[in-house]
Amino acid sequence: MRALPSHTVIGAGPVGTLMALMLANRGHIVRLIERRPDPRLSAPEGGRSINLAMAARGTAALEQAGLLKRLAPTMMPMPGRMLHDLHGGVQFMPYGQNEGEVIHALGREQLNRILIEAAAQCPHIELRFDTRCLDVEPGGRSVALHDERAGRSYAESFEVLLGTDGAGSAVRAALAARGLIRAHEQPLDHDYKELAIPPPPARAGGYAFEPRALHIWPRGGYMLIALPNTDGSFTATLFLARLGAPGVPGFDRMSSAVAVRAFFHAQFSDAAAVIPELAAQFASHPQSRLGTLYCERWQIDGRILLLGDAAHAIVPFHGQGLNCGFEDCRLLDRLLGELGAVGDARTRAALFERFERERRPDTAAIAAMALENYEEMRDTVRSPMFARRQLLAAELERRYPGRFIPRYSMVMFHPEIPYAEAQRRGLAQARVLDALLADSALSDLGSMPLGRIESLLEQAGL
Ligand code: FAD
Repeated sequence: MRALPSHTVIGAGPVGTLMALMLANRGHIVRLIERRPDPRLSAPEGGRSINLAMAARGTAALEQAGLLKRLAPTMMPMPGRMLHDLHGGVQFMPYGQNEGEVIHALGREQLNRILIEAAAQCPHIELRFDTRCLDVEPGGRSVALHDERAGRSYAESFEVLLGTDGAGSAVRAALAARGLIRAHEQPLDHDYKELAIPPPPARAGGYAFEPRALHIWPRGGYMLIALPNTDGSFTATLFLARLGAPGVPGFDRMSSAVAVRAFFHAQFSDAAAVIPELAAQFASHPQSRLGTLYCERWQIDGRILLLGDAAHAIVPFHGQGLNCGFEDCRLLDRLLGELGAVGDARTRAALFERFERERRPDTAAIAAMALENYEEMRDTVRSPMFARRQLLAAELERRYPGRFIPRYSMVMFHPEIPYAEAQRRGLAQARVLDALLADSALSDLGSMPLGRIESLLEQAGL
């Protein structure tokens, strides 16, 4: 039997580290190369904790790698969104209605650290930090690396190389520079900035806001959100146009402390009250860009494969970028399992091609749904019609379990439903909801005309 090929994984972010662990679990030797220092030895950037929402696709992948139990204590359940109005009033809207339909806030630093700790315990994985990938030569199977601490560049050969080095991937850039792939980023004209909300000093062990929710301050053209951390703090994120216009706020109009305070006090007064040194945080925290990456090819002849953000970075408004990257790992791991020990190059090329073929419709679907969701989060959630639509969708799900599942639930809680199918069914369901909501006879959901619903579902192919 041929020996299993060794893998060089560029980028020990969450996707690279999880994939390295899955490969090692299958007996592969893995070299995991990361430009940053070892997270076990350093404090988080600027002492801030930055978090994200983990949903069922992400937890399914962690479970598959046997890591979910280790991460569970660091995960904060968020069963719904808490909407904050201009006057500080709040309204809770559950995300799902069935047991376990919750998403979880998870600290990025904790996630990375736990994954790296697991990788460090694995004898099949060699971890190399402070090492930047500069270039990849696919023909010669060599990768150019730079040791950041020693200030020395060197080349190394590889057997199989996985590019998991995020949205600005050096691996992808090397392939594009050689004309092997084409990629372009569609930037969003809105940027984001993270701000810390510490635990309130007066309430030991308490939180500034209800911890079991994802908080949203939807303001039409922009929004503030906040996710809880296990230490009693929240991480808030402002999403706002890069360039404002007369009467329309933008990051370019926030150049003075006075402007920042005035904006926050007018728009997010309850949040402004619990963000200490608001103007100083605003001035010192980075303003970062967002966009969708469209990459036409992810693999080269069974030798190189892009995964996670390196292949398909998306905007964060469905909270799915990492969930989707983890789902990449899950699929590749499953395909490796199906094919058994993939030793020869031809079988591996077929495997990478199959991975790309199966995955591409789903990543395209989540990229589109994530863009659509920005409008929902910052604007549509405020309308009474949105609440009514949610109630109607929940009622249909109760009456037609499995046949009607709200699109948000399909994406967040149903990893067995591929993104592309969630998008397709979501469109068909939207037509049913539109028709029912336009029906003036439908004054209360209890009196829904069953015959009409049945025919609408059938017409929509559901
Ligand atoms: P990354 O996390 O970017 O990791 C790449 C790694 O590669 C890094 O460690 C980097 O240092 C390393 N690297 C880069 N270049 C090199 C090089 N040249 N050589 C060596 N190493 C290199 N997703 C969700 O699922 N839920 C959310 O709630 C969510 N919220 C988000 C909020 C915001 C504001 C943003 C911007 C994103 C959010 N995402 C969310 C998306 C999520 O952050 C990404 O999808 C995820 O981090 C991608 O993981 P990755 O491992 O592919 O890439």
